[in-house]
Amino acid sequence: NSILSSVLPAPEDPILSVYYACRDDPSPVKLNLTAGTYQSEEGKPHVLEVVRRAEQQLANDLSWNKEYLPLNGLADFNKLSAKLILGDDSLAVKENRVVTFQCLSGTGSLRVGAEFLAQHHQQRVIFVPNPTWGNHPNIFNMAGLSVEHYRYYDPETRGLDFKGLLEDLGAAPSGAIVVLQACAHNPTGVDPTFEQWEKIRKIVRSKSLLPFFDNAYQGFASGDIDSDAQAVRMFVADGDECLIALSYGKNMGLYGERVGSLTIVCKSEDVAKKVESQVLLVVRAMYLTPPIHGAAIVTTILKNSDMYKDWTIELKGMVDRILSMRQELYEALQARGTPGDWSHIIKQIGMFSFTGLNEKQVRLMAKEHHIYMTYDGRISIGGLSSKTVPRLADAIHAVVT
Ligand code: PLP
Repeated sequence: NSILSSVLPAPEDPILSVYYACRDDPSPVKLNLTAGTYQSEEGKPHVLEVVRRAEQQLANDLSWNKEYLPLNGLADFNKLSAKLILGDDSLAVKENRVVTFQCLSGTGSLRVGAEFLAQHHQQRVIFVPNPTWGNHPNIFNMAGLSVEHYRYYDPETRGLDFKGLLEDLGAAPSGAIVVLQACAHNPTGVDPTFEQWEKIRKIVRSKSLLPFFDNAYQGFASGDIDSDAQAVRMFVADGDECLIALSYGKNMGLYGERVGSLTIVCKSEDVAKKVESQVLLVVRAMYLTPPIHGAAIVTTILKNSDMYKDWTIELKGMVDRILSMRQELYEALQARGTPGDWSHIIKQIGMFSFTGLNEKQVRLMAKEHHIYMTYDGRISIGGLSSKTVPRLADAIHAVVT
């Protein structure tokens, strides 16, 4: 008599099924462009040099130990993470109305924020962009929130559906939570301009919606940490509330360390204290305290002005390589005379390109060319190199002609 044998298999995850198909493909030239991780020109996982240095420094520091962290994580890490997002001279920080919690990367920060909102916010509807990162609905549904979509991408123009976005947010129920990707939108690579952000801010505030920023790519859009935080800072500058999930997965290449933060900006110090006490209850029941190593690496780098500078140079180097891969791919398609307008490849922002290939073409790319991408036609530009661009361009040319 088995209790567990009645468990039904979970529905197939489309991203994982592409991942497995690639893993099981014996071709020596297979190319995996599904995952959003930055690879070196040699196609290998890339560890930042400044991260290696920080780890060496930590290994030699005998005052360092492996005791439990407090429930909210490393204090310096939290202070420096709030500063990274909100800026050096944030009024909200000075007024002590900001609370930050070290969490398990971007995903864990979103999950803790969602759990807190599910318990303490009357309005359980949360709006995410259409399309958005595939895990957003899972995270919010599992916390008991009710996920709706707002229009974001227009396949016709391969740009932002700004009118649709404003209409949908304008029609959202008062108090609804709105997930806004702070920069380098995944999967579309399309971000609002700053003028558009200002209009979004106005509608969010006038409808009393609660913005929840997903800041998974700070620095990866423009190569500059401060420019990429500008949309978030516009919202914080108006003195109203918001939540921000920050990940160090991409911008420090610390994917597997699971290090990130949840920052909650409140209207007063008194509110911030109450919010903090409740988030700590959520954290305590979910995992007690966060892991130490990744947060120690981040803190070592952010604290030391030389290491911070070296980090920003390495980050800019990653962004520049991605930009040159975009350019090379665009030029390779031009050179082949591939039908269609491919300028979106150089216009889109961040780690991904939404190629416009349909599911049938994506399947052909895998079957005939051993090139793997998500079924929505998204490729990770961070997984390309000068060596692999010509093969990709040949394959795209073949499947669209
Ligand atoms: N948010 C977005 C938009 C992402 O694309 C990702 C990762 O791909 C994440 C959050 C979470 O990443 P992590 O949990 O590794 O920080």
